[in-house]
Amino acid sequence: MKNSVKRYLIKGILFCFVLFALVSLPEQKVSANRISDLEASIQEKEEAIDAAEKEKKELAAGLTSVENVKKELEKSKANLTAYVQELDAAVAEIQTKIENLNTQIADKEKAIAETKAELKEAEQDEADQYEAMQNRMQSIYEQGDNYYLELLSDSGSFADFLNKLDYIEQLSQYDNNLLLEYKSVVEYVSLCKTQLEVEQEVLNETKKAAEAEQAAMETLIGEKEAEILAYEKDITQKEQVIAAYEAEIAEQTSVIEALEAAVAADRASLWGERVYNGGMFCWPAPSYTRISDDYGYRNHPILNVQQFHTGVDMAAPGGTPILAAYDGVVVQAAYNASMGNYVMIDHGSELYTIYMHAQKLMVSPGDEVARGEQIATVGTTGRSTGNHLHFSVRLNGSYVSPWGYISKP
Ligand SMILES: [Zn+2]
Repeated sequence: MKNSVKRYLIKGILFCFVLFALVSLPEQKVSANRISDLEASIQEKEEAIDAAEKEKKELAAGLTSVENVKKELEKSKANLTAYVQELDAAVAEIQTKIENLNTQIADKEKAIAETKAELKEAEQDEADQYEAMQNRMQSIYEQGDNYYLELLSDSGSFADFLNKLDYIEQLSQYDNNLLLEYKSVVEYVSLCKTQLEVEQEVLNETKKAAEAEQAAMETLIGEKEAEILAYEKDITQKEQVIAAYEAEIAEQTSVIEALEAAVAADRASLWGERVYNGGMFCWPAPSYTRISDDYGYRNHPILNVQQFHTGVDMAAPGGTPILAAYDGVVVQAAYNASMGNYVMIDHGSELYTIYMHAQKLMVSPGDEVARGEQIATVGTTGRSTGNHLHFSVRLNGSYVSPWGYISKP
């Protein structure tokens, strides 16, 4: 009997303190639903943190993408300039990505600061509640018997007294739930903060990766631009060589044309009108039929460009006899920087043959020569890279294919 009375007494005292608590604490609707909602949110947060951690790990794999971009571009590189343009576009994209990341990181930092403040508040709520409960418990033990008597005397009947006890039970439960809720809030906000911090770390690492990607791209662009420069320099050099070659041919042609003009002017007075009767020419470098360079357009082996070759090059050792391909009159037998020692023969009817790079000339201008007669020896004078006979045929003021007049013996 004494124990149960004491129990009622304690409950009575508790009732007073809880009433006091209800008045002094902020209004809070504590329910089992609120706590289970919080628990669900906490679980959600834990899953989100796991996902963010996973994303962080996957970042390392993303770092190889620069190498992949490089490989892809190398594969499709048809033109270096287009290639560099693609790289520039890739860098611009990365820069935009970095800017976006900076914004996201700033937002994240703000959210973290806010969550920190929220956490501090939640922790304070929990501490306050805990302290209030502790105080109430302490007072119950300190002030024991007097409060039981007061509660008993305040109750109008025994039923009233029991009702009050029931209410006290509920309030005690409420107090406990409130503490649990505050604990849950602290746990939830703390998880929010952790999640934000992990997300921020992911953003920082993404930014770092993007910056590394940008640096790699820029190095690549530097390399490609150097390649373009080298390539352009090479093209310029080739163009210069081609221009020099073309100037040389033009110079040769102007010499030949001047001679043709002179022949045309002097023909009547010097040797009368000559008529070519259509006969086949003889092979001008007997027993040497290897053609080292044919008449017409050919691909320059080093420059890789098309150039026009005005005659047929016959490879033959130095000193090999050069024969007049057909009957005619020697128009010129002289030295020229480009043609070397050369002979030009007029066969009549605006048909001429020219023999270049000779070692020795054996005829003079005005000499009548017969088909097959030796006029010079093979050499490598003028612009020539080795012993050979360059044999050209001109008709009506233009180079024509010698193959219309000669055939390999
Ligand atoms: Zn030639």
